[in-house]
Amino acid sequence: MSKSNELTCKDYEKMINDYMGDLLNEDEVLDFLSHIENCPSCKEELTIQFMVSQGLNKLEENGTFDLNKELSEKINSSLKAIKVRNLVIFLSIAGFLSVIVAIAIFIFFSLS
Ligand SMILES: [Zn+2]
Repeated sequence: MSKSNELTCKDYEKMINDYMGDLLNEDEVLDFLSHIENCPSCKEELTIQFMVSQGLNKLEENGTFDLNKELSEKINSSLKAIKVRNLVIFLSIAGFLSVIVAIAIFIFFSLS
């Protein structure tokens, strides 16, 4: 995938559908959301598409919903899922490194 600064608003607009369907990978979600945060026109487009896809369902359910809250909850849960995964990756790398260090210390002391 090309770098974020090479993507245009058109590219991000195409990603909106995939984002709503949870079809983007983590890098794409981060890239997409950071663009959305800084681009009012894409954010508006996301809000509109979100309203169309989620809003109609919700209206059928109970007639009332807070669209902006729903959207920010979706964005927050995307970011949270990525943070949790990054933490798990970090912890497994940290765990792996401490095993290596422990083995190195063990070898060092058994040789001396
Ligand atoms: Zn944009």
